[in-house]
Amino acid sequence: MKECLFCKIAAHEIPSRAVHEDARVYAFEDIAPKAPTHVLVVPKKHIERLAEASAEDTGLIGELAARAAAIARERGLSDYRVVVNNGEGAGQTVFHLHLHLLGGRPFSWPPG
Ligand code: 5GP
Ligand code: ZN
Repeated sequence: MKECLFCKIAAHEIPSRAVHEDARVYAFEDIAPKAPTHVLVVPKKHIERLAEASAEDTGLIGELAARAAAIARERGLSDYRVVVNNGEGAGQTVFHLHLHLLGGRPFSWPPG
């Protein structure tokens, strides 16, 4: 997608602080962190939001979740939160699927 912010970040057309990269997944530091660890894990494939993922993306979504867990493990986090905002009403502002990995502070429940 030509005008998608996270497509551009994943393609290194817009700079970001990389955390992990492989053929299908890119992870980078959130520009406005909401916790001491706030990493965004995105597929390189443009998927607008979780609801737009198709059956063929199931493995890819598993890779995103596994990657978030691996990054948390590398950082020594045992307790952390993984969030996907799906749609404007749920807080999605960038319309390219991403997992938020948040850690390093206590979290309350339910989320706001
Ligand atoms: P959403 O609200 O869509 O779930 O999350 C979008 C996230 O992207 C926000 O946490 C926001 O801080 C982050 N973000 C927005 N623009 C940029 C950017 O240009 N670079 C980086 N690294 N993060 C961004
Ligand atoms: Zn995109």
